[in-house]
Amino acid sequence: MPRTWPTVSYFNSGTAAAREVMGELELLDRKNWYELYRRIEDGTHWRLDTEDKFQQRYLVQIDDTGSWDSFDSSALEKELLLERRGGVGAEECICAGCSAPVLLKSAFCLNHTYERGVRK
Ligand SMILES: [Zn+2]
Repeated sequence: MPRTWPTVSYFNSGTAAAREVMGELELLDRKNWYELYRRIEDGTHWRLDTEDKFQQRYLVQIDDTGSWDSFDSSALEKELLLERRGGVGAEECICAGCSAPVLLKSAFCLNHTYERGVRK
């Protein structure tokens, strides 16, 4: 049985993990700064951001290949950010009108941290 991949993960080119992932994928399509792949071993579909040094790339599982290029993965990306920071703190977000708890190591809540372009 192939190892199960998380629904969303960071993809960092040049790492051993990235090379391993790429070795298991075949490219099916390319559209709107995304690439669609099929995992050879189990037939699952995966979307990868095209290479862009200013942007964090993600490997995201795609269930509906009909709308793979418009699938909104921001909720999954936020979950990953939350997990990476280890949760939320006791203080409130410093954005006016926002009383959500801060993301650890941030002055902002998860949503406002993400809105500011922070991905890790
Ligand atoms: Zn906030």
